[in-house]
Amino acid sequence: MKTPRALPTPGPLPEDRGALFRWFRRGVPLAVAAFAFAAAAFHAAGRGWWLLAGVGAIAAAWPSFLRGRAFLRNRTAIMRQDTFWAYALRPLARRLGQEDAWILSFCGHNNQRVREAFAGHRAKRALILLPHCIQMARCKAGILDDLQACYDCGLCPVGDYMNALLLNRWEGRITNRSHKAYREAREYRPDLVVAVSCTDRLLKGLAKMPEIPCYVIPLALPHGMCVDTDFSVPHLMAAMESLVEPRRPSGDVQPLRHEGIA
Ligand code: SF4
Repeated sequence: MKTPRALPTPGPLPEDRGALFRWFRRGVPLAVAAFAFAAAAFHAAGRGWWLLAGVGAIAAAWPSFLRGRAFLRNRTAIMRQDTFWAYALRPLARRLGQEDAWILSFCGHNNQRVREAFAGHRAKRALILLPHCIQMARCKAGILDDLQACYDCGLCPVGDYMNALLLNRWEGRITNRSHKAYREAREYRPDLVVAVSCTDRLLKGLAKMPEIPCYVIPLALPHGMCVDTDFSVPHLMAAMESLVEPRRPSGDVQPLRHEGIA
């Protein structure tokens, strides 16, 4: 058995930036409400309609203010509305060359609320979802069928992820199709999902699973889409340690390792 490599240290959970999305998500309906109430004050003939429009706009903005337990209780409706806004303004962001920044801001807004919701009571049944493209393309280890087929050679993030999973007894899946990841998540019935993916799939995932709180981590794409992608294992570990009840057994546990190379 080879000498175990040191696991990366998690460190603090990085700040999530959701100001851009939040500004539009709240700002647009609140501006509409202000305009409608001003119009109601000056346009007596259509006052009823303007008041109705103003109240409707306030109702559209209201879910973006819900936090903590209220956020978890109303999560499905909140995420449906938030993803509507994310998709509605995506073409504009694309035209301005800010599509990734827009989606990342939406993800940051989501992450902030998930962090607040689990700050007081951490999740007990969490599931990690990772895409198969984090495995080095030329590696033949059959990690889709058995994660421990990984030789932990250190050439891609799978080895560190596997060790962190085994050491902490976390539940995780690596899948090569989005629909399989959604199915795995629904079957496992977690109270929190920590998902890693490209921005497009993160947005899609948040839209497809509005009922499950998801903390999302974007992939780095140093070689383009879907090939030899990368992500921060310390970020994943920090998310799990901050948001999830520890399951690590007492004592010094060493993960199993295979001899070999990728
Ligand atoms: S054997 Fe190496 S390249 Fe293959 S999945 Fe494991 S860490 Fe990645």
